[in-house]
Order: sequence, then C-alpha cells, then structure tokens
Amino acid sequence: MLYDLAIIGGGINGAGVARDAALRGLRVALFEREDWGCATTGASTRMVHGGMRYLLYDIPTTRTSSVDAARVRAIAPHLTFRIPFLWPLFRQGPFMREALDAFLSAYDRYGRLKGGLRHARLDREQALRIEPGLAPDVTGALTLDEWGVDAYRLAALNALDAREAGADLFPHTEVVDFLLTGRTVRGVRVREADTGRERDVEARIVLNAGGPWAGRIAALAGATVALRPGKGIHVTFERRIGNYGLILEGVDGRTLFLVPHGAETIVGTTDDDFYGDPARVGEEVTNDEVEYVIEAAARAIPQARRWRPLRAWAGVRNTIFEWGLDADELSRRHEVIDHEARDGVAGLLSLAGGKLASYRLFAEEATDRVLEKLGRPAVRCTTGTRPLPGAGPEPDFRALAREIPLPPAALERVWRRLGTRLHDALGGADAGDLAPICRAEAVTSAEVRYAVRVEGCRTLEDLYRHVHLAAGSCDGLDCAAPAAHIMAELLGWTPAQTRTHLDRFLERRWTGRRPVLRGATLAQEELARGVFPA
Ligand SMILES: Cc1cc2nc3c(=O)[nH]c(=O)nc-3n(C[C@H](O)[C@H](O)[C@H](O)COP(=O)(O)OP(=O)(O)OC[C@H]3O[C@@H](n4cnc5c(N)ncnc54)[C@H](O)[C@@H]3O)c2cc1C
Repeated sequence: MLYDLAIIGGGINGAGVARDAALRGLRVALFEREDWGCATTGASTRMVHGGMRYLLYDIPTTRTSSVDAARVRAIAPHLTFRIPFLWPLFRQGPFMREALDAFLSAYDRYGRLKGGLRHARLDREQALRIEPGLAPDVTGALTLDEWGVDAYRLAALNALDAREAGADLFPHTEVVDFLLTGRTVRGVRVREADTGRERDVEARIVLNAGGPWAGRIAALAGATVALRPGKGIHVTFERRIGNYGLILEGVDGRTLFLVPHGAETIVGTTDDDFYGDPARVGEEVTNDEVEYVIEAAARAIPQARRWRPLRAWAGVRNTIFEWGLDADELSRRHEVIDHEARDGVAGLLSLAGGKLASYRLFAEEATDRVLEKLGRPAVRCTTGTRPLPGAGPEPDFRALAREIPLPPAALERVWRRLGTRLHDALGGADAGDLAPICRAEAVTSAEVRYAVRVEGCRTLEDLYRHVHLAAGSCDGLDCAAPAAHIMAELLGWTPAQTRTHLDRFLERRWTGRRPVLRGATLAQEELARGVFPA
C-alpha cells in the first residue's frame, strides 16, 4: 500500500499529526518504536499550561499554549484537571512582591484564555490556612490556575482516534532507514520489535516526529535537525500531599513545580543540556538531582523530607537549537522543517521544538504543510472541536457504582483514563474480572483485557502507561505477575516469554526506583527484589 503520509514517532506530536491528517482524509501510517507517549511526552510535568515563565522572553509561546490548552481541555475533559497553584512568598521584599503581583496580572490575560481564574494575593494567615505545612517564615502567597493532563493517555487517545479515522497504527515498530531515490524520500524501512522482521513501507511524504531523536532520524536521509536537547527529571511521591500545586524555588533560584496528580504528587523539573542516548536517559538520574528536587520542595514545606519518594523519571526536551543561552532560557517555539527547502532532500518534513500544551496547533500546522506538499486542496482542521475518544460529561460515580460494582473512587480513576469508554471496558465484566489485581492501585483484570484487546498493549510497560499498572506504592511487586498472566493468556506468550516480559518490566521499574533510595531503605528493597516470587 502506498501511504500519503508515514509518521515516525508516536509521541504527542506524531500522534497529533496522525489524528489530524487522517481526519482530513489522508492515508496515514504511524510508526512508534515503543508505545504512545513513552518518551518526552510521558516524562513531562504533564501540564497543559500557558508557560508563565515564557512570558518573560517568549510571549507568542505563552499565547499559543494558552489558546490551545483551552482546546485540549474541551476535547478531553476526562484527561484534564484544574490545578490551583500557590506561589508562597518567603524572602521576597516589598518591591519583589509588587513585581510578582504585576507579573501575574499580566499572566491573567493568558490564564483567562484557558478558563483559569484571576490570580489572588493572600496574606500569611490565608496562605497557611490553605497549606498548613508551609515553612513558618512564609509571609504570604499568590495564586494562579493551571491545568494538568494524563500525557500518556493524551498521546494514546490521539493515536486511537487516528485509527478510528482510518490511520494504520504500528506501535513497537522502529523506523530503521529511509527508502531513497537519489535525494528523494520514498518511504521508510521498519523493524518490528517482536519478530525483528524488517519491511519497506512506501509513502508520498514522511514526517519525522522523533522528538529528541529527530536529529538522528533526519541524518539517515542526509538532512539536519539542530536541537538543544535538555534533560529534565521529576520525583513522584507516594500520596497526594494536597489539592494545591506549589511553585517552588530551587536552591539556585530556578522555578520548580509541585503538582498533585491523581493519587500522587510529582515535583520537578531540572533542565540541563543532555547529549546522551534519549532512550537511556531514565538510567542517568543521579541521587544529586533527586536531592535538588526534594530540597526545593522542603524549602517550601519542611515536611517534604519525610514524604516517601516512589520513583524518579527523566525525559529529554527536543528544544530547537539556540546558541549562547542557558537551557532554561531557550524558547519553546515549534517549527515544521521542510528538508527539500533546507537540505535538498525531497519528501521529508521534521518537527522540532514545541510543548505538550500546544501540540494540537503544531499538528494542525504540520498537516497544512503536508496537504500543501501533496498538492491537495486545503481541508478544514477539526481537531480543536472534535472530542477525543471517551470525552463526555462526568458521571455521578456513586450512581455508577450501583451499575458496576466497584467503589466510586476506583470508578473515577478508571473514568479519568477511559471516560465514557469505561462502559466498554467494565460493563458486563464478571466479579472476578472486576476484582483489583493490585492492592496499591485501582487496576482490574477487565481494564487490562480492554487495554490489550482494544488499545493494542503488547508489554507490561504499555500497561503502566495505559492503565497505571504498577503506578502505586508496590511498584509492580504486587500486580506485575497477575497482569503478565492475563497478557500471556491473551497474547499466547509461553512461560519463558512471560518470564522475560516480567523481568524486563521489573528491571525498568527498578531503574526509576533506585535513585530515590538510600541506606537501610535501599538494602530493604534490594532484599524484596531478591525474594520476589513471580
Ligand atoms: C522534563 C520535561 C517537562 C516538560 N513539561 C512540560 C509541560 O508540563 N507542559 C508542556 O506543555 N510541555 C512540557 N514539556 C515539553 C513536552 O513534553 C514536549 O514538547 C513534547 O512531549 C514533545 O513530544 P514529541 O512527540 O515531539 O516527542 P516524544 O514524546 O519524545 O515522541 C517522539 C517519539 O518518537 C519515537 N521514536 C524515536 N525514534 C523512532 C524511530 N526510529 N522509529 C519509530 N519511533 C521512533 C520515540 O519512541 C518517541 O515516542 C516537558 C518536557 C520535558 C523533558
């Protein structure tokens, strides 16, 4: 089959273009070496925010992110949630307070675009009433509104909607080379992860949406994408510490975020130049980076030192190259690169830069360019108004619990992943399939089966992203084995294959867990791993 468009990379940008292009009538193939949103997208702070910081040096990015964030909220209400933030004030003198107040007044103009409330100024007593754990030297606080999102699900639902619009999805399939005639790209050579089988796929246009890999991918065709990759880490704490986000100050004065996210709290991020392999960035989180993040939380809330960190995770920003600036100051603008104009390589476009918050707009611009290159008439983009799969009004979870025998809180968590498609996954499931397979996270066999059968999950890591398997405090020791047995039954894994999947999954979980452990806790967990009975 000759595709109109082959897309390399199923992060938010590749999945977003696949959806848009399929909805506009193109024949699309989307190739992802692992699973939707598994790289930078999933490693983000998971906020569809306006980018308050960029207001200082990149106002267009703040504006476009705010406008597009509102659209993301409208098309995926089940995946997005409001995060009221407190910006606690400590050492800032009167001048700095006024300056921050004025800064947030300016940001209010953009906050309104995404449905946020105006900022407010709180005195010390009001701030402590909202967050009693704040350090005693707090002198007041400012508030602002942002929006959080399940970034894995946002990428997955874009891909699944693309499939419903006619696109062919190929997860766990890596593009290993281009098909070239002279300096014209005719398609891609792909390798399936399961079988190692390689095959050629022809396409009129190939779009490189490889995120931090974009430069390496373009080089295979003799083209260039200049990025300034930046590593960012986050730490996940075991519980939801509160209902407010906090704006934190690192020991070096940088801004970090504390974000309540589902049942957890996440804190981050760092931003350092990174020129290693993006696939291995998770293995390169250091104890010092974790300490930097915890220190920032503890400066605002001293109790943070007693919170239990569950894991640390890292991603690589695919920021557009700029010379002479600190990583923090780089613009988050995005660009669709036409390699015919830039490098004399026809049939190839690349995406560079961008933000999760403005992915939809980036995808719209890229799809416009693809239609233009194909010589097709312009077709109106509908991705800003067409709901993503499962979007719908929030149900009354207590009433729903009378229909599907699960606790309302568990149903709400499933609804935040599946929305109205919860009924497809859980409706009609028997009591055994509705029993949780994990004591730490609301994951049922029924949801695992749905993720495999309907959403195409092929590994236990896929289940982590699709149904939050092992996202709770057990970190997989409780639920990975039962989930592996369900997958083995559905996918026909042999006992040896099941063991390999399980080992690989637990090893990956350990990679995230190891940097947050010290001393006796580290020894204790090493012991638990040693006796794991899978
Ligand atoms: C620490 C951090 C925090 C951030 N926080 C925010 C935030 O809160 N809000 C916000 O708006 N933005 C945030 N961002 C930016 C945002 O995450 C990125 O702009 C966005 O996720 C990039 O998506 P992408 O699809 O371009 O890249 P990716 O998500 O990395 O997707 C690229 C995909 O290509 C695949 N791939 C690579 N090579 C191949 C190949 N040869 N064949 C097939 N597939 C391949 C990869 O597996 C990957 O899934 C953050 C970024 C970082 C690093």
